[in-house]
Amino acid sequence: MSIAQLRREIAPLVALYAPPKPWDVASYVEAIGRSRDRPIYLLPTDTKGGVCGLWMPTAQADYIAYERHTSPAHSEHIILHEVGHILCDHPGRPADGPAPHNDWHEQQAEAFATEILLRAGRSTVVSFDPAVDRVLTALDPGDHLAADHPPVRARRRLLHLLWAGH
Ligand SMILES: [Zn+2]
Repeated sequence: MSIAQLRREIAPLVALYAPPKPWDVASYVEAIGRSRDRPIYLLPTDTKGGVCGLWMPTAQADYIAYERHTSPAHSEHIILHEVGHILCDHPGRPADGPAPHNDWHEQQAEAFATEILLRAGRSTVVSFDPAVDRVLTALDPGDHLAADHPPVRARRRLLHLLWAGH
């Protein structure tokens, strides 16, 4: 795994689903749903217990539940992370089962969310998603272990790595 490889993998998706100007996450997500002929519904939710975002595919549509008691930048990040899973064709969460977990998938979804937000001019990207936490831990264990709060520094480093080539 390398950041360069990650960026190469998601580059076609980022190019295909470039963020609109002016940026608006709801219209962005709606446009993606239209282009795929499969609506994406956003569900602001009280997620409790540290779960910040969830993608639930059904036969006709995709549902993204996201934590509503957080900053706009954070909820946008949560939503785009889940959109990344959708566009990468990762397996979604079954209605009555645990979310599948795959570190590579998490990194792809994170990289997608990060690239879109940076291109949209959103620079204050912070995530509190435990799945993201695991990814950042894998990428940068020293940084994460240095603090038991959300890994803001590790995230900034990931952003920097992702953005360095732009
Ligand atoms: Zn995820």
